[in-house]
Amino acid sequence: MGLQEERETFRMEVESRSQNEEFARVTVAVFMSRLDPTMEEMDDVKTAVSEAVTNAVIHGYQGREGIIYIQAAVEGQELTVEIRDKGVGIRDVTKAMEPMYTTDTTGERSGMGFSFMEAFMDEVQVLSAPGQGTCVTMKKRIGR
Ligand code: ATP
Ligand code: MG
Repeated sequence: MGLQEERETFRMEVESRSQNEEFARVTVAVFMSRLDPTMEEMDDVKTAVSEAVTNAVIHGYQGREGIIYIQAAVEGQELTVEIRDKGVGIRDVTKAMEPMYTTDTTGERSGMGFSFMEAFMDEVQVLSAPGQGTCVTMKKRIGR
């Protein structure tokens, strides 16, 4: 009999508020702790989750009310995290993911959120369309 790699999942919904960014980040970190990650792996995932949730709050819902849907799964040593909003969506995903691309006009944002997600996770996939919301799916192999 081989090693049984059972898939374990976790999901939650949070209101679109900046305070919930920390809540989501910490909750996903606790969920992934069953994979026995290093401090660095834990920080990488927390940063990626934080960037994705912040984007949902600021860009997706533009500070208005909305629900952010968070799902995570572990299968073997692979962690998958999905952050989804039903906000305004993105017209050109390829462009949005370019380093330093931002639609922010206040000068507060640097356009590096997606670049951080890609740097800290093994795989980042973004599905989005105007008026349809945005779904960011990220994968990372933890340990070995
Ligand atoms: P930073 O993350 O450095 O503060 P930023 O949020 O503008 O700046 P990215 O996170 O890379 O940079 O996102 C790039 C652009 O993609 C955003 O400026 C925004 O236009 C768009 N975007 C990202 N996430 C969403 C989302 N959930 N809904 C709608 N638009 C989004
Ligand atoms: Mg961002």
